[in-house]
Amino acid sequence: MAASDRLEGVLALLRANGGRVTSPRRAILQALMDHDGHPTAEELTADVQVHQPDVHESTVYRFLDELERLGVVDHVHLGHGPAVYHFADDTHHHLVCQQCGLVIEVPDHTLDMLHRRLRTEFSFEVEPRHFAVMGRCGTCAGRVAPAP
Ligand SMILES: [Zn+2]
Ligand SMILES: [Zn+2]
Ligand SMILES: [Zn+2]
Repeated sequence: MAASDRLEGVLALLRANGGRVTSPRRAILQALMDHDGHPTAEELTADVQVHQPDVHESTVYRFLDELERLGVVDHVHLGHGPAVYHFADDTHHHLVCQQCGLVIEVPDHTLDMLHRRLRTEFSFEVEPRHFAVMGRCGTCAGRVAPAP
């Protein structure tokens, strides 16, 4: 999907649900699409403020909340810091290295076995996309030689 199609698609969904489409909101969506990896609301605000210095962080938070209710974005906790955001249709889990902060995105089904086991043995439904799996990456664990 082309980025502009995605942007227009989200804006159409927003309008269909009675949301307003404003130029700050366009800029926030654009910033989320342009950002590498997983931005915090604060980082998105900084990106937007490059072109629209009047956009306040609270506006960004409110809009992200609205997008979350519409199922467009999800927030995730990658560690101790503030939540980060990504598009909800890009389904993956996060492995976070507690030592170097590396975030590895892994396919949705990677944790299936664990989920099945927790469901059958403990009647527990894991919500794996909301939090990252914490640990150490191969480099930090010393199992893999650092890249040359
Ligand atoms: Zn949360
Ligand atoms: Zn993600
Ligand atoms: Zn690491």
